[in-house]
Amino acid sequence: MRRALVAGNWKMHGSREQARRLITETVDGLPADCAAEVVVLPPFVLLPVAAGVLEGSRVGLGAQNVCDADEGAYTGEVSAAMLRETGCRYALVGHSERRALYGEDDALVARRAAAALRGGLSPIVCLGETLEQRERDLTAEVVLSQLDAVVAELGMVGLARCVLAYEPVWAIGTGRSASPEQAQDVHGLLREHVRRLDAGVAETLRMLYGGSVKPDNAGALFAMPDIDGGLIGGASLKSADFLAICRAAR
Ligand code: PEP
Repeated sequence: MRRALVAGNWKMHGSREQARRLITETVDGLPADCAAEVVVLPPFVLLPVAAGVLEGSRVGLGAQNVCDADEGAYTGEVSAAMLRETGCRYALVGHSERRALYGEDDALVARRAAAALRGGLSPIVCLGETLEQRERDLTAEVVLSQLDAVVAELGMVGLARCVLAYEPVWAIGTGRSASPEQAQDVHGLLREHVRRLDAGVAETLRMLYGGSVKPDNAGALFAMPDIDGGLIGGASLKSADFLAICRAAR
């Protein structure tokens, strides 16, 4: 049985004051019987304030990226050990904005995932196709090759400690979510691929869907057999919406 995970990716939004307010509202509003594990992913500089507000709560903390090296001359990067010390348990890697805007390729994403594991963080590995790739019928090829790059770097023992997040690029921040059936098709494909490599890992590996998840579509998406929760962008910045999505998780 896989426990649902709902992760809120704030992207580059928020101030210290907004972070305090948003997290307090989320912690206070989370129902005691919430089935899902809930995690927030603020920008790096807001992690300490977030960690302070989250202390002792049921809401976890993660970062939006992590350096592929453990220490050294990597200006502008933040290591897994630093994130761990700040209270993080998760780190996003391979978000499509990182891939598209900052040139992060599959190999770098896989190395970032490996560094997260070395530093005691669980990587949330983002995969997904662009609209052009979908229209050219390349979705399966693209997401499987993104996954294979991670498997090549981490092996199945490492993959078992990751969370996957399928995020079709055309659905991120566009208000145009994949339908539950479209999302399930890709999640099913990914799980089947993992199953061929290791049936045990396939059963326990959590796969989130991300891309315009809102309170009104979360329930139908999360009801799909291979969707184990969500990676939530825009809606994670409004506590009422984020809480409604958390409640929709199995
Ligand atoms: C995201 O940032 O990963 C995301 C899924 O954004 P949104 O929910 O706004 O589409």
